Amino acid sequence: MGDTGRGSEGRPNAGFIVTSEGVVVIDALASPREGEALLRTIRGVTLQPVRWLVLTHHHPDHVFGAIVFRRGGAKVIAHPDTRTLASEGGQDAMVADWVRVVGLDAMRGFEFADTPDRPVTGTDTLRLGGRTIVITHPGAAHTPGDLIVWLPKERVLFAGDILIEDGVTMVVDGSARALEHALEDIESLAPRVVVPGHGAMPARAGALVATTRGYITGLAARMRAAVEQGTPMQRALAFLPPADEERPVSLASRERRNAARVYVEEERAYMGLGEDSTP
Ligand SMILES: [Zn+2]
Repeated sequence: MGDTGRGSEGRPNAGFIVTSEGVVVIDALASPREGEALLRTIRGVTLQPVRWLVLTHHHPDHVFGAIVFRRGGAKVIAHPDTRTLASEGGQDAMVADWVRVVGLDAMRGFEFADTPDRPVTGTDTLRLGGRTIVITHPGAAHTPGDLIVWLPKERVLFAGDILIEDGVTMVVDGSARALEHALEDIESLAPRVVVPGHGAMPARAGALVATTRGYITGLAARMRAAVEQGTPMQRALAFLPPADEERPVSLASRERRNAARVYVEEERAYMGLGEDSTP
């Protein structure tokens, strides 16, 4: 579990799979310093080289430690679409914003390292040391570059931010519809264990999937009804607590930002427009 200094909501998870032919790491945490800490953790378990780094999406808290693994010789598996709201102002602005979150010291030695050596836009299967690891793009649910990692034999799923501890996954870079589809696909896998993108692993995998589904389906229905009744967005969002000014990913902030995004999504659907592909 990483720590971006944002309190409970700022703890991105990373994982790793040890095989007899090397290690596969899933996500790189939020800075080179955190990437190093992750590498030390791996070294406490195995001396096998890290062959692959799989990135579940291109948000800084999951990829800004990637350079540590690339320098160590790992190849990157990611979706080639790196666009997010955070990257909208260009790479320099993205890094400057992130320095304000994790601090300058944690970012020493930083370089972007999330461009894939092995891009995945559909499904790709990695076979390493007798393990089968299935990497799939589940749609633009949390971001356009989402990937999930599935171990079919062990029935373990690394879900990235499609699942987070409290079930209120951000869709401001993705969409409610894509999230609903991704959750359906995850449900049909019937995972025994899910590793969420943030926070503790749930005791029951299915319960977190159901909670997330309930949240997003409920929000979409509520925003759809508001659009159909001609309720302006500000009034449609009035049932929610105000966003926290200094905490863009606190629960209240996520709920409000999601609601605004889903309102626009429902408005576009009502008008018969396609999905807004520019995050
Ligand atoms: Zn994210």
